[in-house]
Amino acid sequence: MRKRLVAGNWKMYKTPSEARKWFRDLTVNLPQTQAEPALLVPFTHLPYAAEILEGHGVYWGAQDVSAHSEGAYTGEVSAKMLADLACKYTIVGHSERRSYHAETDALVAEKARRLLEQGITPILCVGEPLEIREAGGHVEYTLRQLEGSLQGVSPASPQHLVIAYEPVWAIGTGKTATPEDAEAMHRAIRGWLEGRYGSDFAWQMRILYGGSVKPENAAALFAQPNIDGGLVGGASLKLEDYIKLLTA
Ligand code: PEP
Repeated sequence: MRKRLVAGNWKMYKTPSEARKWFRDLTVNLPQTQAEPALLVPFTHLPYAAEILEGHGVYWGAQDVSAHSEGAYTGEVSAKMLADLACKYTIVGHSERRSYHAETDALVAEKARRLLEQGITPILCVGEPLEIREAGGHVEYTLRQLEGSLQGVSPASPQHLVIAYEPVWAIGTGKTATPEDAEAMHRAIRGWLEGRYGSDFAWQMRILYGGSVKPENAAALFAQPNIDGGLVGGASLKLEDYIKLLTA
């Protein structure tokens, strides 16, 4: 059985002090849940996450990583630095990075490889823009993006790679894919992963849905057979909502 993952993507919200309080509040209000909680937070918040969340069954990580291992790369943060702060997961290829920072599939694949070298599980995002969905090319587009972003990416086990399907038109817009549409894409992604990594491996890999997931729609999405949890932006910032998502 695949353990559901409810991964919060905090983007560029909250100060480190606000995060510290939020983490503490989460540890005292953590519900009984079958799901695995994880928080992908700004780099500045990671030391607090490591200090406060350790031992509570809540995991943490970053939203991006350098494609380089080490060196004169001003402003970059390496996978080794993230590993030192005990990050279990880190997002790569989020659509906001692909569009605002011109990240290519090849760069995303390099970043995923750096993470795996340090034992950190990439949460690798793929998903189509609205015009591609409207033209009916979403499956082909997303699988091509997956193929490019997984060049040379060989996780040691199915637990060491998480795919997040995030249709760009659903991120931060309040529009969500229907559970049936999301499931159809997740099935296609799992089929592609079977071809790439073999069926046993693909069967055990988690594929998250992301795009305006909230407490009101999470249960229907997470009930789909190939949806193994969510990558959640806006709704992961409010403690009350995040807790509801963990039990959805
Ligand atoms: C995201 O940032 O990955 C995301 C899915 O955001 P939201 O839930 O706000 O749409």
